[in-house]
Amino acid sequence: MTPNSDFNPPHPPNAWYLAVALPVPLRRLFDYLSPIPIKPGEESDLIGRRTEVSFRSQTLVGVIVSCHQTPTIDPSRIKPANAILDAQPIIPAELLKLCGWASNYYQHPFGETLHAALPQRLRQGKAEQAEATVWALTIEAKGLPHDALKRAKKQQQIFQHLLQHNQLTQDKASGLGFSNSVLASMQKKGLLEKKCATDVPPKITSSTDTLLKEAPLSLTDEQQAAIDHLRYHQFNTYLLEGATGSGKTEIYLQVVARVLQAQQQALILIPEIGLSPQTVMRFRRRFNCEIAELHSNISEVKRTQSWLAARDGRARIVIGTRLASLTPIKNLGVIIIDEEHDLSYKQQDNLRYSARDLSIFRASNVKIPIILGSATPSLETLHNALQGRYQHLRLTKRAGKAQPPRIRIVDLRQQTLSAGLSNQAVEALGATLNNGHQAIVFINRRGYAPTLLCHQCGWVAECRNCDAHMTLHRSPLHLHCHHCDSQQPVRRRCPSCNSDDINPKGLGTEQTELWLNERFPSTPILRVDKDSTQRKNALSNTLKQVAEGAPCILIGTQMLAKGHHLPNIALVIIVDCDQGLLSSDFRGPERMGQLIVQVAGRAGRESIPGQVLIQSHTPDHPLLQFLLTKGYHQYAREILKERQVTGLPPFGFTALFRAESKRANNAIEFLQMVANTFNQLAPASKHLRYLGPVPARMEKLNERYRYQFQLTASSRKGLQEILKKGLEHIDQHALAKRTRWSIDVDALES
Ligand code: ADP
Ligand code: ZN
Ligand code: ZN
Repeated sequence: MTPNSDFNPPHPPNAWYLAVALPVPLRRLFDYLSPIPIKPGEESDLIGRRTEVSFRSQTLVGVIVSCHQTPTIDPSRIKPANAILDAQPIIPAELLKLCGWASNYYQHPFGETLHAALPQRLRQGKAEQAEATVWALTIEAKGLPHDALKRAKKQQQIFQHLLQHNQLTQDKASGLGFSNSVLASMQKKGLLEKKCATDVPPKITSSTDTLLKEAPLSLTDEQQAAIDHLRYHQFNTYLLEGATGSGKTEIYLQVVARVLQAQQQALILIPEIGLSPQTVMRFRRRFNCEIAELHSNISEVKRTQSWLAARDGRARIVIGTRLASLTPIKNLGVIIIDEEHDLSYKQQDNLRYSARDLSIFRASNVKIPIILGSATPSLETLHNALQGRYQHLRLTKRAGKAQPPRIRIVDLRQQTLSAGLSNQAVEALGATLNNGHQAIVFINRRGYAPTLLCHQCGWVAECRNCDAHMTLHRSPLHLHCHHCDSQQPVRRRCPSCNSDDINPKGLGTEQTELWLNERFPSTPILRVDKDSTQRKNALSNTLKQVAEGAPCILIGTQMLAKGHHLPNIALVIIVDCDQGLLSSDFRGPERMGQLIVQVAGRAGRESIPGQVLIQSHTPDHPLLQFLLTKGYHQYAREILKERQVTGLPPFGFTALFRAESKRANNAIEFLQMVANTFNQLAPASKHLRYLGPVPARMEKLNERYRYQFQLTASSRKGLQEILKKGLEHIDQHALAKRTRWSIDVDALES
């Protein structure tokens, strides 16, 4: 239904219309006349194919979602589609359904949702055949005796491989060390040929001998009990709550082996950044099958290949970050979400979905188990497990020889600190290095100092674009806003009183790094934060160096908290835990507990005993005491009680409307309209609460004023219903078209 006044010829009787999802920010589908005749009964054949259409003055690629004979608008306004791009459906029904759920639940236009799930190549309307050629044996070669090439070792290996697997992708060939020149010479001899991947399907190896490259570990009793609990071929959500190092990954590996043996595929999600090489390596080491990797660090070409390999069942294991959750998978047998509490599973722009929650819907839709693993489960997940909606599996001991680390609080009050470190911390560092071990120093702020302050008049370097202080950086020397990325040179004199008494205040990773370099000149001090890991491979190179085991100090931000397995770390120092304790965000205590436990979990992961020092100005804070004496599980249950009293998630369900504009009034006006709409539809009650418009936590960011309106319902269904009704009004309002706004269902912040 393109609002275009072009003349359209009258449609034939019994014409077929295509309902097309287009990548436009409108919450509906668009009807086009089918450019090809459709025989009744064959209309479902078109679903999932792409079509090129004209929309307003553009040409767009859309996806056919259904075909029907009753137009939704006046047929004379319906234009024919330009072309149908695919000879057969390329988007499986399961992915359409998944996107349908996401679009509905997160109130994001369906066409844009679907668009986000497609690799760029397919979005652009190109043919899917990008990869598709593989090496295969010629008929002649297949007739040869099995040791025919034994004089040429490499050729014999390739021959053997192809007899076993039927096809060899270019990737796999390089992975196995088969050079192009050998392959080419075999092609010349008429032994090999290049074929379309789908013409020579890979032989699926299912027996355990060929599937496994290395033997599985024999499980501890707790691990065994957890695995015995699992049911395959039916939907269940499992929370695998196990301390760091308790052997969750070994459980994943063994569950995946079971699924592969049943001829199914496995989807494994891991948090953002840095982590993937390690986890992927463990799967590659264990399994002899095609593994598709999907994260932001891979090229578009590779992404398309992985997407197709997963869709067609060639990739038996799909492993990746958030975006991998939207990959079509032909025969899915299990979904595993490692570190399920990690914030990176929630996308913070466009389609604001939670890859975890989306995956739970997916598992229920295809009737398979889903495992959420964490040492520090989110309160949402823990609540569901305690309520019996999820099966709760627990690992309480560390696997192997490792013992839990010893944790001590260091009272910072009245202490003289060196770059944030107490005497005890410095002594512990010295002793650790003397023993030939490694240490982590955790500081949740990058740069040299978070503030530059005039000692004479109190002037502070502020960002021009945001309500924020500029962070001082030393290498290279400059002021940097961590919110809008703007930079300024450092002034010699105070712009307010002209004094030269301007000083850094507060602590960042660079400062402690410099101090440690002076204090331990012969020890490598390795910094891991957003600045030091800008260059490609910088993080993985640093982690490699640490894994080699020589004494060193690793200093960094929360990037260090994520599941790295570094066996020679004996000491972890948390420089300042007070920030989390005093945070005003309702999720502050949850995050702080997770962070402390995760960072602490880096210590003593194998035979070396671990030690953790937590520095604090509020060593007697009840929450901190609770965490350290009772552990994360009890701590989390305690904060759940508080959430229940306040009706916040997981006891309430929220949606956050955000609006921003150069003039504050515009954003406020829009949100006032939103607030009025909801208040008219349903006055606030025990089951429905409204808050706003109020300024966002950082009111001004990047020259724009930001406001929000929050809706909290006592049930998920209630929230969905009121949102749907409200949006019908809001979308039509003139202010909605003029304002930059978004909606965030299950927002992480409040
Ligand atoms: P998690 O994923 O819970 O952090 P991992 O699976 O990485 O734990 O296990 C931590 C360490 O314990 C690893 O070195 C792993 O090889 C070892 N491990 C795990 N399970 C066993 C087992 N059943 N027997 C011996 N060692 C094990
Ligand atoms: Zn001054
Ligand atoms: Zn800024």
